[in-house]
Amino acid sequence: MDKTIYFDNNATTAVSPEVFEAMKPFFCERYGNPSSIHRFGGSVAAEIEHARRQVASLFGAGFRDRDGLASEIIFTSCGTEGDNSALNAAVNARPGRTKVVTTEVEHPGVLHFCEELKRRGYTVVLLPVDGCGRLDMELAAREIDENTAVVSVMWANNETGTIFPVARLAEMAHAKGALFHTDAVQAAGKLPIEVDKTQIDFLSISGHKLHAPKGVGALYVRRGTRFTPTLFGGHQERSRRGGTENVASIIGLGRAAEQSLSGMAAETVKLTMLRDRLEKGLLERITHLRINGDIQNRLPNTASVSFEYIEGESILMLLDHYNICASSGSACTTGSLEPSHVLRAMGLPYTAAHGTVRFSLSRYNSVEEIDCAIEVLPGIIEKLRGISPYWQERDSK
Ligand code: PLP
Repeated sequence: MDKTIYFDNNATTAVSPEVFEAMKPFFCERYGNPSSIHRFGGSVAAEIEHARRQVASLFGAGFRDRDGLASEIIFTSCGTEGDNSALNAAVNARPGRTKVVTTEVEHPGVLHFCEELKRRGYTVVLLPVDGCGRLDMELAAREIDENTAVVSVMWANNETGTIFPVARLAEMAHAKGALFHTDAVQAAGKLPIEVDKTQIDFLSISGHKLHAPKGVGALYVRRGTRFTPTLFGGHQERSRRGGTENVASIIGLGRAAEQSLSGMAAETVKLTMLRDRLEKGLLERITHLRINGDIQNRLPNTASVSFEYIEGESILMLLDHYNICASSGSACTTGSLEPSHVLRAMGLPYTAAHGTVRFSLSRYNSVEEIDCAIEVLPGIIEKLRGISPYWQERDSK
């Protein structure tokens, strides 16, 4: 197969042709610095404000400034920066409180910042998930207390697509005087987000997950929420993030937000159809296979599939021969492949966790591509099981 079949869209997406077009003038023609006094730069600042409103619309955030600026949106460099900045600002906004509540299945952008908070003396509570990746809300209610500075729960999980009840969790946090952050990196562009209908204080997204380029993101900070920057410098972003703006990418993110919003309803139907076709096709042809996550409540584009008794990495290598890209549910820790923290938190049996492959789709995938994967995978799995000691021994256990 010559053409690449790309099923790794939760890792990163293609920049859409429309986004690319929108960005082009901002490299060699309109390259002025938005902070400049001259019109050449100043006109670029106006384009950034347009992009800000486009992103605010994706979040359902109103334009409430007297001057019409969507001031609740801060442009960042990536999802990780948004996560770090939000948590940093949140703990600073709640001095005297020493507890942070999050989950076991967050992205390292949250989890590793929480490690840093532990070093600074905070107590970090990681809420567990069940076998489908869902939270125990009663336990969450018990853990969120008057000493909690911030609760951080992702909108949707990057590995399984499981969606979390963030609106309810934000209410629970506010009831105890805590702030609420959500990492919406995987939700943005795939699920309707209406921050104004929730009590969410901080929400972070990343451009490269929704057909904008890498190296740009956005952080929503609810109006009235105290915000201390992580990057101190110039007065960009209303002094909330110093540094000359990544203009072309910000313009790209704005256009991508607009495109995602207008196409979301149709895309959801298409992605759900493709994902279900893939899962059904595989379930019909391959035994000892399980679909992970909250089947009734997950992202339309994500299929986390465990092919039991074999290694996910071997599957990926054989898929690569057919130019099919996906990713495994493993992470390389100290030289050996371990199932990811998400699969471990869900308590997947060892033999299933190791054989997990994530197929994450986008608007650019087709039925033909799905059918190609359904056609080649049974042979790949049979071949690998044929040489797997775990497969031979499975009935003797
Ligand atoms: N949060 C989630 C849920 C993600 O999936 C990712 C990227 O995979 C990130 C945060 C980090 O985003 P970025 O790569 O833009 O830093």
